[in-house]
Amino acid sequence: MYAEVHLPIAVNQTFSYLIPKNLENEIKKGSLVRLPFANRSSIGYIEKIIDNKSYKGDVKAIDSIVSNIIVNMPDLKKLIDWMHHYYLTPKGLVVKNILSFLFKKNQTVPKKQKIIRITKKGVNAFNEKRIKGTSRIKILEKIYLKKDFIKISDLKKYISISSASIETLIRDKYIHLKEIEFDYNPLEDVEIGENIKNLTLSEKQNQIFKKLKQKIDNDCFSVNLIHGITGSGKTEIYIKLVEDLLKEKKTALILVPEIVLTPETARRFKLYFQDKVGIWNSSMTYAEKRWTWENLLNQNLKIIIGTRSSIFLPIKNLSTIIVDEEHDNSYKQMEGMPTYNARDIAIIRAKNLNIPAIMGSATPSIESYYNSASGKYNFFELMERYGSATYPEVKLVNMFEEKKENQIFSRNLLENIENRLKNKEQIILLHNRRGYASILQCLGCGYIFTSSKTSAPLTYHRTYNQLLCHHTEERYNIPKKCVKCDRMELKLKGVGTEQIEDKLNKFFPRAKILRFDADSTSKKNAYKIILKDFENHKADILIGTQMVSKGFDFHNVTLVGVLNADIGLFSPDFRSGERIFQLLYQVCGRAGRGTKPGKAIIQSFNISDPYIQSSSIMDTKKYYNILLEDRLSTNYPPFSKIIRVLLKGKNLIKMKKQMEHIKKNIKDHDFEILGPVLAPIEKINNLYRLHIIIKTKKPLDFQNFYLNNKSLKNIFDNLKDIKYQFDVDPLSLL
Ligand SMILES: [Zn+2]
Repeated sequence: MYAEVHLPIAVNQTFSYLIPKNLENEIKKGSLVRLPFANRSSIGYIEKIIDNKSYKGDVKAIDSIVSNIIVNMPDLKKLIDWMHHYYLTPKGLVVKNILSFLFKKNQTVPKKQKIIRITKKGVNAFNEKRIKGTSRIKILEKIYLKKDFIKISDLKKYISISSASIETLIRDKYIHLKEIEFDYNPLEDVEIGENIKNLTLSEKQNQIFKKLKQKIDNDCFSVNLIHGITGSGKTEIYIKLVEDLLKEKKTALILVPEIVLTPETARRFKLYFQDKVGIWNSSMTYAEKRWTWENLLNQNLKIIIGTRSSIFLPIKNLSTIIVDEEHDNSYKQMEGMPTYNARDIAIIRAKNLNIPAIMGSATPSIESYYNSASGKYNFFELMERYGSATYPEVKLVNMFEEKKENQIFSRNLLENIENRLKNKEQIILLHNRRGYASILQCLGCGYIFTSSKTSAPLTYHRTYNQLLCHHTEERYNIPKKCVKCDRMELKLKGVGTEQIEDKLNKFFPRAKILRFDADSTSKKNAYKIILKDFENHKADILIGTQMVSKGFDFHNVTLVGVLNADIGLFSPDFRSGERIFQLLYQVCGRAGRGTKPGKAIIQSFNISDPYIQSSSIMDTKKYYNILLEDRLSTNYPPFSKIIRVLLKGKNLIKMKKQMEHIKKNIKDHDFEILGPVLAPIEKINNLYRLHIIIKTKKPLDFQNFYLNNKSLKNIFDNLKDIKYQFDVDPLSLL
């Protein structure tokens, strides 16, 4: 018997392998197997099993079976086929992406840990005071009343323990010692507080809950969008839904956009469902992932809260998928292939399983909004805040009217900060640019320093005292003179979060300030500490990049300030307006979530921009009308589907030739093609970036064409020294 196998490489073909006799019964269509490929060991995905090999030469044999998880979960198999088709991605790459956990190399073997328990003999000896040695007595004292085993590592928190005294206690049969695997539950250190039994919903929440509950009970596919303003209590609806489905031994998957949101959301769910809650995100260690994976398979975990990759987890009895903040860009895989969007995968997976998908957002993506307006999705609105909280008052400040010394902080903002500090209330400030200064410029010739490998300007970071490329994170020492004209007068320009923190310290020397951006959270768990400290009011002001706009729920924050709303406004990307509205609207929503009323101040040099305007009056209807009109006139989504074909390589002439070749193969068909042109970011890591944009009227138009076009597929399979990427439904064209 032979197998046709997909390998995790970027080619659209299968390879033939021999199935050894002893594995013939186990290996099935969909099995993951270990096998030799190009002189090393690789993992392959069985496409089909055949009696005669298709390849004429000698074939190698499969070594062993890695997992039959896809065989046992037909919905994952369907998903692989769909992603291969929709995202134009070789199947081997799709499989590697969705089961990346099984592809991990150098898996660390979980360390054992020692646990001990006192024996009857030990109890008697202790009671009769027959134990010798102070250290041994101390150990028995600690475990004397415990009926269960206790970790030695836990005991060491209270007393010092030598291995000699443990050994002596074992020899005398006073204690039992066992070795068990470490508990790698990533939520072990999450403090959950008192269990909550009852959750009361408002009338409006209850109406939505009842309708959604019916959808889950019906076991029927549907897409449901909750458009709920920030702080309206969407999470309470999710919790109530989960509470209900747990009664029927069903399970739920809840997607959140950011790693930083997983522990907080998990904590809120744990208050109700304790150990049934698990998390999944890319900051977890291999051991933590393995723990979660195993507890998912044996169904100890019933609720998974995770970031985008958790959409692929092998969850049994899945009865609903909830996508919170569905508009968030973090759901999109932008690097490599497939360039999937977990929100869209959620809908496909729900369809395959015949269950409802539930999405929530205060600023739904234009696609979801349009699908709701056209009746494709069920639409629910939640337009008042939960509990006694009210919506913040928003003020737009024209920065042209400010004096020179108020170019960063307007007088209005300074007064308001002062006032909140006096009242012991907290403040969130958004400045969507990390580092200290955005550019380093020569005062002589005006040259702006760029990375040697990338066309983008370098940012000065004081934390490292170096220039950084924000596309590759590579670092450069500060140059002494201009590379163009040799002059020594160089100036840092443009303000980043590090500098804002500095300036803020000068204005408010007694205020405690925390910075929340990619640099301050680069160490594992650093973000947890910052958020916890801010939650516990160990700081007054949280200043950060777009990270501060995410769904946090700090009840003592009564002021939000946006220092420069214009960042990104002139980006050459058709989604820039949408992005700015979402960011401003979301960050303003962080104010006034408790009992005290909130205020938001947006500073801008473009106060008449329609997206800044509509966010400052919190008018979502107006915003969607402007956006839809804009997209209709330019024929961009949701009025068309777009696919970006990106080539990356060192030889631009060769790339252009290949791209023309590709374009010629597509042109005769009914697609609108823009380009080829260099992408706005022309070069990253020494590789030029050349792209074309394909617009189609209907979804799958291009996919169906491509997968049936052998000569076109051949071009991509044989691009030498050029990398390619299909980005289906791109969120950025930079
Ligand atoms: Zn110069």
